[in-house]
Amino acid sequence: MDFNDSPEQAEFRQKVIAWLDENVDKKASLSTGGMESEQALIEARAWQNKIFDAGWACQTWPKEYGGRGASAIEQVIWSQEVSKYPTRDGFFAIGIGNCGPAIMLYGSEDQKRKLLPRMARADDIWCQMFSEPGAGSDVAGLKTRAEKQGDKWIVNGQKIWTSQAQYADYGVLLTRTDPSLAKHKGLTMFFLDMKQPGVEVRPIKQADGGQAFNEVFFTDVEIPDEQRLGDVNGGWGVALTVLMNERLAIAGVAPNGWPEYWDMIRELQLDGRPALEDAEVRRKTAEWYVKNAGLKNAQARMLSAVAKGGIPGAEASLGKLVGAPMCQDISRYALDLFAQSGACTEEQLSIMNGQFQKAYLYAPGLRVAGGTDEVMRNIIAEQVLGLPPDVRIDKGVPFNEIQAGNQGGK
Ligand SMILES: Cc1cc2nc3c(=O)[nH]c(=O)nc-3n(C[C@H](O)[C@H](O)[C@H](O)COP(=O)(O)OP(=O)(O)OC[C@H]3O[C@@H](n4cnc5c(N)ncnc54)[C@H](O)[C@@H]3O)c2cc1C
Repeated sequence: MDFNDSPEQAEFRQKVIAWLDENVDKKASLSTGGMESEQALIEARAWQNKIFDAGWACQTWPKEYGGRGASAIEQVIWSQEVSKYPTRDGFFAIGIGNCGPAIMLYGSEDQKRKLLPRMARADDIWCQMFSEPGAGSDVAGLKTRAEKQGDKWIVNGQKIWTSQAQYADYGVLLTRTDPSLAKHKGLTMFFLDMKQPGVEVRPIKQADGGQAFNEVFFTDVEIPDEQRLGDVNGGWGVALTVLMNERLAIAGVAPNGWPEYWDMIRELQLDGRPALEDAEVRRKTAEWYVKNAGLKNAQARMLSAVAKGGIPGAEASLGKLVGAPMCQDISRYALDLFAQSGACTEEQLSIMNGQFQKAYLYAPGLRVAGGTDEVMRNIIAEQVLGLPPDVRIDKGVPFNEIQAGNQGGK
């Protein structure tokens, strides 16, 4: 395992750093913390346009679809470096990171040429509609139905927690097409126009006042069969492609709060003395320093695998399982240290522009999005440690015979 960049990777990293240094205002303060305002969308689109014009967008995509035909490791290096700057691309991350690769693998040539460059250039926003009120961790238990009528499908049902659906032009949608098959086997994936009749998006108000995700309702929504991604009842395989690419998109950039904490704690004064002279602060700081070092090494191991042509495996779950709770602990502790001013969320008035206040509110979501702590533990137990699998009493049982109240079964 080599933790250092190869000479080619180091050269590429330097190129990226030079371009970012020249093109990003490091001191810029983003107008809001999340993906909830029109202003944030304008900033995100301008940034994505800029990196597209400079040829950095969608590193691994073929040039004819708007990318630069680069290797996965270059994509990871780019993501690592760009994550150190105050830029905004969250509105396009799900499209480019998750939906794009699915279109690339399962879309027709016409669809690829039409949709992918628009995605890369930030002309269109995409969302991912998997989770439902009764199907999150166990997403294969979803109930949204798609029924074939001639050469189109009629969709009825509901999704939830769909990030940026209120802005989305398109979405990928996982549906149940055959309830008589076992739950993973009767699913089919589509993409659809989010502005078409029968699609209703209702934003969900969050604890921090933002509205980054939504409920989406489908009433007799028509989807042409040519917008099916993959085989009928083969949707689970397509969903796994989307989720695997999500891992690559976040590989190496999962936040844990350490860089912000370290910047803050070196400057903070408590009762007129440097905070780092306090024994308890030193103990906590040492603990997070060690965790951060462990995460960095685990990440380097994952990057070595990516550089050799692999994809981030279950190790990515480790980063999230340690990093997301760490982010929550750090932000909670920072707010304690700030005493009364910890309650102030006003960017201009708060220490470090209110970053810790924002992190405190979004960290719980970080622990849930893309798989909860418990789900990460199950993945690590089964796929890394080789422990016996979670109990699955519905394995192989036709979906419409599963005895589970709200699962749509008996
Ligand atoms: C910020 C954010 C953005 C999101 N964006 C999207 C999006 O764009 N598209 C989308 O489709 N979804 C999205 N989600 C939904 C997300 O994927 C789900 O919230 C997540 O998978 C958990 O599902 P759930 O909320 O239904 O919780 P549940 O699955 O109902 O879990 C409830 C509790 O049970 C525990 N649990 C469940 N199963 C097990 C098990 N087998 N063993 C042990 N414990 C278990 C969980 O850990 C949790 O504590 C988003 C979520 C968040 C927080």
